[in-house]
Amino acid sequence: MTVNGYFDANATTALDPAAREAWLSASWYNPSSLYASAAGARDELEQCRERLGDLLQCEPEDLIFLSGATEANNAVAAWFQSRGQRMAISSIEHPSLSEPAAAAEHIPVEPDGRVSPASIEQVLQQPSRPGLVSLMAANNETGVLQPWQEALALCRSAGVLFHCDAAQWLGKHPAAGLGDCDFVTGSAHKFGGPKGTGFLKVSGGFRWLRGGPQESRRRAGTENLPGIAAMLAALEAAGQRLSRQQHLHEARDAFESAIIARIPGTMIVGATAARLWNTSLLILPAHPNVKWLARLSRLGFEVSTGSACSSGGGASEVLRAMALPEDSLRRVIRVSSTWEHTRTDWLALADAMVRVFADLEAGTA
Ligand code: PMP
Repeated sequence: MTVNGYFDANATTALDPAAREAWLSASWYNPSSLYASAAGARDELEQCRERLGDLLQCEPEDLIFLSGATEANNAVAAWFQSRGQRMAISSIEHPSLSEPAAAAEHIPVEPDGRVSPASIEQVLQQPSRPGLVSLMAANNETGVLQPWQEALALCRSAGVLFHCDAAQWLGKHPAAGLGDCDFVTGSAHKFGGPKGTGFLKVSGGFRWLRGGPQESRRRAGTENLPGIAAMLAALEAAGQRLSRQQHLHEARDAFESAIIARIPGTMIVGATAARLWNTSLLILPAHPNVKWLARLSRLGFEVSTGSACSSGGGASEVLRAMALPEDSLRRVIRVSSTWEHTRTDWLALADAMVRVFADLEAGTA
C-alpha cells in the first residue's frame, strides 16, 4: 500500500488534471490583438470571467485576473492608502496584506484563533471608523474559519467596505456568497490551479497596475489566459468534489485523536473553533519543530513549521497574536492535507510522528 506523504497543501497543491487539460487547450493568442483568432482568446477570457462570477455570485465585470493572492492583497492595500483612507485588518492576516497595510489598525484575535464579530463591531463604532475592514475567510496556519459573513453584514450596515482574503477557503468550502464582499482575494495554486494566477473581486473605481488597457484599465499586462482557464477548471473541479464528499474532517480528527493519545502533552491550536477540514496545527510537547520536520521528511512525510511565507522569517505572527507562549512557537507543526488523502494516510502520518517522538526522546534519531 502506498501512502500519500504530502501534508503541506496549504502551502501549495499539485496541478489538477482538469486544470492541466484546460491550460494546454487554452488559446495562446494575445486577447488584445485585433485579428480574428485573437477574438477567440478574448471570448475565452470573458467566459472565464463569467464562470468565476457564477461561482462567487457576483458580476463578472467586477472580477480582475492577476498573479495571485500576494498581488491581490498588495493591490487592495495600495488602492486604499493611495486614497488616504484608513484600513482596519485582523491581526492574523497574511503578510501580503499586513505588510503593505502597515499603517492599518489591527483587530485582535481570540485565544481560539477566531476574530470575534464583537471586535469588528467595536472598530466600526469608533468616531473615526476605517474606510475598509479586512478579514480572511480561513487562516492559513491554524485553519480556523473566520466569521467573514458576519463581518460583511456589520460593514454593510456601517457603510464600510469589506475585503476578504479567501485564498485558503476557496476549493475547500463553497465559493458562493463570497461575491457579496466588496473585495475578494483568490490564488489558483491553493486549489489545484497553476502558480502565479489569481483574481481580485473589486468595487468602485479601483485601479491597480498602469500601462495597457487590459482588465478594463484596472490591471495592465497581457492576460495569462492559459493560467486563468486552468484556474477556473480547478475551482469548478473542487466545487464538484465538495458536493460529492461529506464528513471531510473525520480523517483529520482521527489523526488528532491518535496524536493526543500517543504523544501526550500535544496541543491542537484552535481545537475548539470551526476549522478547515484539511488543517491541523500542533504544538508538540518537546523538541524543535525543525528536528521533527527533518525526521518526518526522511520517513516520507512532508509537513511544515507554519506557513511557507513565514519560514525563515522567524516565529509565526499569527500565533503571537493568539498569545501563545513564546517558548511553544518553535514546537509548532502544520499538517494540511489534499483532497486525495485518506484516513489511512492520516493515520500513517500519526504512526510516523510517534516513531519520530520516540527517536527524539531516546536521542538516537
Ligand atoms: N493569503 C493567504 C491566506 C495565503 O495562505 C497565501 C499563501 N500562503 C497568500 C495570501 C499568498 O498567496 P500567493 O503566494 O499565491 O501569492
